[in-house]
Order: sequence, then structure tokens, then C-alpha cells
Amino acid sequence: MPTKVKAIEHIIIKYFNFKSVWYTCIVYYLSYQLSVTLYIKLADINLKPKMTSTISDIDIKRKASDVDLAEVSESPPKKYQSPADVNCRQGFSYARLSIHRDMIGDYERTNCYRQAILSNYKLFYKKIVADVGAGTGILSVFCAQAGAKKVYAIEGSCVTAVAREVIKVNGLEEKIVVVWGKVEEVSLPEKVDIIVSEWMGYMLLYETMLPSVLYARDNWLKQGGYVFPEKASLYLAPLSDHEEYEESVEFWHKVEKTYKVDMSVVAKTAVQERTDRVYVKSVSPEMVVAHPWQVIELDINTVSIEELQQVKGDFECKCFGYNCIHGFVVWFTVQFPGGLVLSTSPYQNETHWGQSILCIPQTDVKQDTILKGSLIIHPNQQFHRFLDIKLNYQKDESIAHSLIFKMDDLP
Ligand code: SAH
Repeated sequence: MPTKVKAIEHIIIKYFNFKSVWYTCIVYYLSYQLSVTLYIKLADINLKPKMTSTISDIDIKRKASDVDLAEVSESPPKKYQSPADVNCRQGFSYARLSIHRDMIGDYERTNCYRQAILSNYKLFYKKIVADVGAGTGILSVFCAQAGAKKVYAIEGSCVTAVAREVIKVNGLEEKIVVVWGKVEEVSLPEKVDIIVSEWMGYMLLYETMLPSVLYARDNWLKQGGYVFPEKASLYLAPLSDHEEYEESVEFWHKVEKTYKVDMSVVAKTAVQERTDRVYVKSVSPEMVVAHPWQVIELDINTVSIEELQQVKGDFECKCFGYNCIHGFVVWFTVQFPGGLVLSTSPYQNETHWGQSILCIPQTDVKQDTILKGSLIIHPNQQFHRFLDIKLNYQKDESIAHSLIFKMDDLP
């Protein structure tokens, strides 16, 4: 054995306590083989979803990091997990089925989209469509059924896994391409003829998803293309809601009767508290005590993202008879090309949006009392999905009042 090798063997034996250098080499060789085998096994597990994936995403260019995560991970990229991001409606994750069940179970909503799409089959025939915020893919399927040549089902949460299955079992893998990512970040291989999206939140703008649809319109819609829906309106009317007032304010006066503790002093705070948050409920038509006023109308074909930074409108309502007003009820409608309207009005069948209530200190009115004012809506500066709302109102020519409401995490 040459003297150099002898010296190395000596060091190994001295410091690592091995019998001979050959023994060391065998141990190293075996460990190397083992790690190579393990590496191949792990890589195989990671690659499996890629190999069995039936919907092809390969023609969609996305940021490399998104592609990797989309292909090998069950959970969404970290940036989508914030409650202030695309992943929440009413505090639930869009990656969870319960919220999609609620939306699809809302017959007024889902059937209206279905009718709007299927009745416009002439517009959809052989056309390219983007479904912005595709969720479980139901609207994409309607578009394909209406005759679309290709539908890009763009979705930011990992409910895309469900969408893929739905598309597969409906035999539409050739026509519908699932694109996982925020619409602002994905890149489509072509421009589209139609954009379909169900973007509406409570009081129309809560969740602030409309800018994402406008982004898609500005970047991916062909000149002269259609947006479904194409118009949105917000209505307002004075509301008489004794039940709400009883529950939130009168309650504190009644505590003494049950527990022998006078808590009526809390009523003052309760009065204040009810006028700083929007709450959502389903209102019955009898509670609406004046003709509704259309405060805001948005043309989705033309409104800009900048204009949504402040949406504003005036109102003037003439009251019906003697009533005690507890607030204003607000609801929206959207209109599709062809004229079909999805309405969340208290005069129509209930939807999962209900109506939004802005409470005011109780005010008596009589026949023809005028309640006038303005409504100003901003996305919250810090959490863009939330809204800050300013309500200015005045009874006949008496002094004007101004209230600021937050629409953040709703119950
Ligand atoms: N189109 C489905 C789901 C509508 S809910 C249906 O009608 O049943 C809105 C969906 O849009 C959610 O699944 C949400 O994750 C997704 N979304 C919201 N903002 C998005 C964005 N910027 N990019 C991609 N998807 C978005």
C-alpha cells in the first residue's frame, strides 16, 4: 500500500475508529446507494399528481413558483392564505366546500347565471371565455354547455382541485382549462370574447373583487367583448326594524326584570354600537317604508378601477305613513347582456346575500316625510376586501347627520 493511503487509513482508524479504509469505503458506498433510492422514491411521489392530472395546464404561462406549488402541493401558495386576500368570503376559506355549497345552493343566484349564459347561446357559440373566480367551475360548465369553444376557469384558491374533477366528470376537459392563480398574475395564451364572473359581495362591493374583474376586462377581453354581468346597481330605502332595536337596545332595559341588576346604562353604548357596523339580514317587504332609490349604477363595461376607490350616490325617499325608522336597507341588482336581472331586493326571493342594513338613531316619520342624503363607499385602506361607508342623511329640512360604518369581518 502506498505510504499516502497508509497515512489516510491511519487517520481514519485513529479518528473514526474504523477497522480499515476498505470498510469505510463500503459503508459510504452503501449509504450513497440508499440515499439515491430514497430520492427517486420521493421525487416519484411528488411527480404523481403531475402525471395523473387530466386537465392540461401546459399552455398557460404562470410564474414558476405558482406552477410548482400548483402541481405538487395540496395547499395554496402562502400569499393566498391571508384573510384579506382572495381566500375568504364571510370569514370562510374559498378552498373549503361549505362556502361553494352555500353559493350553488342559492338557486336565485346560480339559476340566474345559468339562464343568462344559456339564453345567450348565440353569443357563446364557438367563443373564448374567461370565468374569473371560477370556484368549483359551475359557471365554466354553463359556458361550455352554451357552446363556448374554450373556457379559461381562473381561480385563486385551491378549490381548483374540485373544479378539475367536476370538469372531468362532465366530459369537458377538452374545452375548459383550469388556471390556478390570481387573475392579476396569470397569463392566458389568447384574449377572450366573453368574461363571466360572480364577483358580488354583500352590499355589492364587500370583498372588493370587482377590480379583479376589471383587470381581466382591461387585459384579456377583446375589443367589443361582453362582460357577464354588465351592469350593477345599488338601491336604498328607509327601514323600520323594531325587532333589531328591541334586541340591541331595549334588551339592556329588561335585564333588571330577570336578574335584579339594572343594566339600562349600557343602552347608551348599544345605541352607539349599532350605528358603526353594517349588518346583514333578510328583510321582509313590510319593513321597507318608502319607495327604493337607485343610489349607484355601475357600467361594468366602462367603469375604471380608479373610480371604484370612491363610489358615491345621492338619494331622496318619500316615506309611507306614520313609522319609526331604524335605518336604511341597501341591496343590489346585476344585469346581464340581453336584460336578465339578478335581484337581491327584499321584494324578490331571498338570496344568500340578504340585504345590508345601516342603522340610524330611531326617527319618527309621517306620510311624505322626505329622507334624503348620500352614500359614499370606499375600500378600506388597510384591508382592501373590507369597506368603509359614509352615510349622510337628513329628515325634510332638519339638520343633516353623518355616520361612518365599517364593513369588515361580518358575523
Ligand atoms: N364562480 C363560482 C365561484 C364564485 S365566488 C360560482 O359562481 O360558484 C368567487 C371566487 O373567486 C372564489 O372562489 C375566489 O377564490 C375567487 N377569486 C376572488 N378573487 C380572485 C382573483 N383575484 N383571482 C382569481 N380568483 C379569485
